Amino acid sequence: MRRISIFGATGSIGASTIDLIRRDPEAYRLVALTGGQNIAGLAALAREFRPEIAVTADPARLPELRAALAGTGLACAAGPQALIEAADRPADWIMSAIVGAAGLPPGLRALRHGTTLALANKESLVCAGPLLMETARRHGATILPVDSEHSAVFQALAGEDMASVERVIITASGGAFRDWPLDRLRDATPAEASSHPNWDMGQRITIDSASMFNKALELIETREFFGIDPRRIEAVVHPESIIHAMVAHNDGGILAHLGAPDMRHAIGFALNWPARRALPVERLDFVRLGSLSFRPACETRYPALRLAREVMAAGGLHGAAFNGAKERALDHFIAGRLRFTEMAELVERVLERLQAAAALAGAVTLEEVRRVDQIARDSADDALRLDQAAR
Ligand code: NAD
Ligand code: MG
Repeated sequence: MRRISIFGATGSIGASTIDLIRRDPEAYRLVALTGGQNIAGLAALAREFRPEIAVTADPARLPELRAALAGTGLACAAGPQALIEAADRPADWIMSAIVGAAGLPPGLRALRHGTTLALANKESLVCAGPLLMETARRHGATILPVDSEHSAVFQALAGEDMASVERVIITASGGAFRDWPLDRLRDATPAEASSHPNWDMGQRITIDSASMFNKALELIETREFFGIDPRRIEAVVHPESIIHAMVAHNDGGILAHLGAPDMRHAIGFALNWPARRALPVERLDFVRLGSLSFRPACETRYPALRLAREVMAAGGLHGAAFNGAKERALDHFIAGRLRFTEMAELVERVLERLQAAAALAGAVTLEEVRRVDQIARDSADDALRLDQAAR
């Protein structure tokens, strides 16, 4: 039996991971299951899988979790520190599927134990790529990318010599507004941005897909995970989401990874790695597909992509600032305090402010990443307040 933990078990990636585990319950022993605000969902999973511990991120919800697990004999805990302690529990495979920078501390702790970390939480690589990769190297841990594009690159690169790689191309579906005229985007609502044409995902990444902040994070994720020069990393809009990524070599050959848009492929690949096992995903019928199309990922339409280029060029703590500002801008958009197109404007202003204040010059340590994450969020709130006062 393999010992596994799932961080973010109640989310979209968590549910897909659970779906695979549920199909083969004899093969796994659950160590830790964690969630956020969905206490009923977390308790139901805990009752079904009987992990060593169930953890909610919110200390205020602990009594509720305790009550929901009464009589089961299952242990529970709450809060950011409890999440880190859950990552101390020995496990063979850990799914990192918390959304946002909150996924970094437990993921980092898990790597220190030399585990295999299936990384869906792209924000940890964006905020602290060098720290995460170095920690994995030092402790003999393995990070397996779960983001579909990065799983695709990982698979396409298997057995290849990095020195012959000319370009890595990740695809973008274009999200909810790919066919909207540019001048309509300003008035796009959170509800409109929350429906994805191809993928069924959590609300935050779905909105990030519409604004291309998701692809911006993924460009940085590609740079950090594979160590590729940012100038060799491209994004292209591919509305069908059938090709997830391509690796182009110096002899003109290009290896593409194709599959149905179903995260259970990338999750299952990481779960079974280095073996391949049958997975319950749709098989592609090329005749039915007919054709695949591509469009430029335009940096005027999607300023988040231009910002990602600047962040990659600057490196260091810029990723943490970019992600922190992006998370706050998204909070404000969801709450109706910011327009859709103002998210990128706000992030850009935060980056400019922090650069001007020389706040991003330090080394990429957990303490520094936390500090920068916080000042980026504060600075975003501050800039928004100034704007509102001026209106
Ligand atoms: P989701 O919102 O559906 O789920 C997020 C999970 O994190 C939930 O279990 C939630 O309770 C928990 N959580 C939220 N805030 C937390 C906090 N502050 N502390 C601890 N736990 C918290 O999100 P998702 O779509 O499953 O995405 C999870 C991660 O995977 C994200 O980093 C996302 O970018 C990445 N990802 C998702 C998909 C997808 O298809 N959903 C694809 C690629 C990558
Ligand atoms: Mg992706």
